[in-house]
Amino acid sequence: MSTHTYEPHQPMVELRNVNKQFGAFHALKDICFQVERGEKVIVCGPSGSGKSTMIRCINRLEKHDGGQILVEGIELNDEVRSLAAVRQEVGMVFQQFNLFPHMTVLENLMLAPMRVRKTSKQEARDVAMQYLRRVRIAEKADRYPAQLSGGQQQRVAIARALCMKPKTLLFDEPTSALDPEMISEVLDVIAELARDGMTMICVTHEMGFARQVADKMVFMDHGEIVEVAPTAEFFAAPSTERAKLFLSQIL
Ligand code: ADP
Ligand code: MG
Repeated sequence: MSTHTYEPHQPMVELRNVNKQFGAFHALKDICFQVERGEKVIVCGPSGSGKSTMIRCINRLEKHDGGQILVEGIELNDEVRSLAAVRQEVGMVFQQFNLFPHMTVLENLMLAPMRVRKTSKQEARDVAMQYLRRVRIAEKADRYPAQLSGGQQQRVAIARALCMKPKTLLFDEPTSALDPEMISEVLDVIAELARDGMTMICVTHEMGFARQVADKMVFMDHGEIVEVAPTAEFFAAPSTERAKLFLSQIL
């Protein structure tokens, strides 16, 4: 007899008709999409199209005001359980690194696991060093953020997110604050995480990187998802004029 039990299909992240207003301004309009376990989604679109707002709603840095967002089946709302779930399951890497300037690299990495996950100091240190090695920056563990280059700081920020053992990582233009020569060291680290099976949603204009890692592309404009398509399809022939125009401007 089979012991297999039927498990209903559950995406890692699901947005159902998500809306967000800033006063009278409609920043997100009926946003719908799903991210499966292990899937890599790249989000692109013109400045002001709502990409950051969408990413911030998924991490509950902003509250959506219509529709539903589910993280591993748990709906994001005002309940403590829901906020705790999203904080545990979803990691975030920002454009501006957001490291604590008065703490060393190692201290930056140990803080959240100790405070939020109640990890012991020794274990937090071990895990932090493990991820610093993974982003190839272990030798900077005792430096302060200001002593590092932008690319190094962003790799530290990625390691910091990984220390919380998130199931999904969100990136909001992780390389757009970097000098050009530092972009690839950060993209290489993200591509490596992608190869290792991390579920990710990444806002970026680095289309070479997108072609390399994305399973699907999301194109936003004026607060709407204009197009969702498998990566090869999206680049070969975007189905909308708006996406074509956008690609022609940035490629
Ligand atoms: P993107 O990341 O695609 O450049 P954003 O999500 O940052 O776009 O912004 C989408 C729109 O929402 C922009 O017009 C922006 O000015 C507006 N917006 C974003 N955050 C706020 C806020 N906190 N208050 C008012 N308007 C905002
Ligand atoms: Mg943005």
